[in-house]
Amino acid sequence: MKIKNINGTSQTTCACGSWLKHWEKFSGQSVPKYCPVITNHPGCTKKDLAGAHVRKYASSDEKWYIYPLCSAHNQSTGVLEVSDSYKLVSANKKETCEK
Ligand SMILES: [Zn+2]
Ligand SMILES: [Zn+2]
Repeated sequence: MKIKNINGTSQTTCACGSWLKHWEKFSGQSVPKYCPVITNHPGCTKKDLAGAHVRKYASSDEKWYIYPLCSAHNQSTGVLEVSDSYKLVSANKKETCEK
């Protein structure tokens, strides 16, 4: 799937402690070992993952989601192709941890 970072989000962390924990909790998945961005070669091998605020690319769905990305990809402004193996988790606290 293709996603785009929402840059300039200074949204303070949620009740989970960090957005990465938030992702783990609501995806039911464990944090990937490596950054799940698919690049041509040899793939992103960074391990400094954080929960990034992203949006689906080229979709009418404009909701905000959390997805685990390395710090470099977290700064990127382009479209990222990422692994479908990991879920997008809602960044809306009212739908998740502050329900
Ligand atoms: Zn949370
Ligand atoms: Zn990366």
